[in-house]
Amino acid sequence: DVALAVPDKQVASVCPYCGVGCQLTYNIKDNKILYVEGRDGPANHERLCVKGRYGFDYAHHPHRLTKPLIRRADAPKRGDFTMDPDNVMDVFREASWEEALAFAAGQLKQIRDQHGKKALAGFGSAKGSNEEAYLFQKLVRVGFGSNNVDHCTRLCHASSVVALLEGIGSGAVSNPVMDVTKAEVVIIIGANPTVNHPVAATWIKNAVRNGTQLVVCDPRRSELARIAHRFLQFKPDTDVALLNAMMHVIVTDGLVDREFIESRTVGYEELKQNVEGYSPEKMAPICGIDADTIKYVARLYATSRASMILWGMGVSQHIHGTDNARCLIALALMTGQIGRPGTGLHPLRGQNNVQGASDAGLIPMMYPDYQHVTDPKVQASFEQAWKLPVGTLDSTPGLTVVEVMHAIKKGEIRGMYVMGENPAMSDPDATHARESLAALDHLVVQDIFLTETAYLADVILPASAFPEKTGTFTNTDRLVQMGRQAIDPPGDARQDLWIIQQIAERLGLDWQYSHVSEVFDEMRHTMPSIGGITWDRLEREHAVTYPCVKEGDPGESVVFVDDFPRESGRARFVPVDIIPAAERPDAEYPMVLITGRQLEHWHTGSMTRRATVLDAIEPDPIALIHPLDLAAMGARPGDIVTLESRRGAVSLYARADDSSPRGAIFVPFCFYEAAINKLTNAALDPYAKIPEFKYCAIRASLGGLP
Ligand code: SF4
Repeated sequence: DVALAVPDKQVASVCPYCGVGCQLTYNIKDNKILYVEGRDGPANHERLCVKGRYGFDYAHHPHRLTKPLIRRADAPKRGDFTMDPDNVMDVFREASWEEALAFAAGQLKQIRDQHGKKALAGFGSAKGSNEEAYLFQKLVRVGFGSNNVDHCTRLCHASSVVALLEGIGSGAVSNPVMDVTKAEVVIIIGANPTVNHPVAATWIKNAVRNGTQLVVCDPRRSELARIAHRFLQFKPDTDVALLNAMMHVIVTDGLVDREFIESRTVGYEELKQNVEGYSPEKMAPICGIDADTIKYVARLYATSRASMILWGMGVSQHIHGTDNARCLIALALMTGQIGRPGTGLHPLRGQNNVQGASDAGLIPMMYPDYQHVTDPKVQASFEQAWKLPVGTLDSTPGLTVVEVMHAIKKGEIRGMYVMGENPAMSDPDATHARESLAALDHLVVQDIFLTETAYLADVILPASAFPEKTGTFTNTDRLVQMGRQAIDPPGDARQDLWIIQQIAERLGLDWQYSHVSEVFDEMRHTMPSIGGITWDRLEREHAVTYPCVKEGDPGESVVFVDDFPRESGRARFVPVDIIPAAERPDAEYPMVLITGRQLEHWHTGSMTRRATVLDAIEPDPIALIHPLDLAAMGARPGDIVTLESRRGAVSLYARADDSSPRGAIFVPFCFYEAAINKLTNAALDPYAKIPEFKYCAIRASLGGLP
């Protein structure tokens, strides 16, 4: 039918999944998406991956929430549970919007008034638009009255952002992905773009074909490792040993860029002293890479005309994630490999709008555009912009994602508003997170499906899916792009912006935004980096790169050409030492768990597992295990195995995978039947408060849980 149908409408939009930000066209007939095609956007030039091309029919899935729901008085909350989306009405009853909103906001207000402003918290979403993120953080800061607002950036690149802000004064990328085609050498560390940023991976492959020398550093052998000039399969958790050893070589061989260091940086002498103790010979047994290879790669990177580093969550999701990123920044600075086309630092952002949501202030320590909540001048400027009495806004940083879960257990947080996130699946030590959510006096969840988090809610507000809304989304390249509404939300589901404003109104705020463009206009007047981007221009051009300070500016795709946005204009070296993972393997739990994503599925699976094609390709929870480890367990591919940590256990299908090193098991976190985050460790990086998803001790055995 689809093959024969002719669309009655075509709508230009962007992909709802990863941070590459591919532009696409929705082909619509009778309010249904028939198919999707790639458009000629700056990041994709008509290319799409399997998710972008086939992962759209979740929007039409019968599990969509179409009415507000209120938990039945006799339905107990349970921290652990088995999802049963077909029996929703055993737990919830339908309600009118008026009743649901009055209940949702009324209870939040009561908690705020009885227990204080800090008894509430909100999690926004990196899948929502910039305008939704902006309005949500404004609601928490003004309506709740504290900075207890965060989102999933805390779980992915928070450590990269802390290190980048500290070192070079900006948390975003220095160069777009496409610059790999201008680089002589590209280092990819702790990232698997073929799976997580598939269209970006195609540009990397094109670059290699045209002569770029690719170096892949990763404990797991990714597909890109097969075409790499060098593949460094270092031992899990030893990034700092490897990177400090590379810096040692660059210093010892005199390959540093003296002029760049002297004119554009501070702190080099301390870094130089620190890496003295990290010779390749000393680090080789620690990281598992021979000294000659470390030397070769360090020299290759330092001496090329243009070298670029891209990284992912293999770098950031450690208790030393900030330190890992500090090393990458130092490598670029000491060699002057930044500030030119084909050079620089690119933390590959995961979600389609995690860059934009962070920019828009959906983080507990900063207002929009990374302006610190502790700065009295910043506070005063937002009070003026938001027409608030002087001294209204909270000047202390709020709690981060995992800290909120602990604060609930201590009785400090009593009510929450969660918009489009699924912490019951995505947080580390998920059983603890679920118990915390279940312990709240009042939980409001706004989503498109009955997620594992929504299942614990007191009230659920049915929201709009990506193709049902208009708004801006910022990709990993700092490209602000226009997403346009292609279809109507089903049933009584409503626009997220409308829902946020309804809650705000019931908390006593008088907001009068009649169109999403008015929210964007307010944003650009409080965020200097996008000050020059107008809604009209986005309508016309579809995408504009920031920084774009004044109207008419073209937008800068390569930044730090002349200076760094720090007080002195100079970047800063930060030396680091080795800190081991919080939980090492031992006799009881002898293996290591690494979690991540799969090509076909997105994060906690709520969308892609309801996309017909994607779910058909990867329908079951799997663990990727080295064939020799499988044999040692007496298991074969396809057998059910049980993985256990000190925090929990799950059973899932074993898949033989010799790209994982022996002793390390990789599990995607998208399968609710085997929620792998029940096993992960909630230990946090001290600077960024990011959990250590990439390393915890487990044991594995043949057979399922009883
Ligand atoms: Fe969507 Fe990312 Fe795939 Fe592009 S690469 S189609 S943005 S999931």
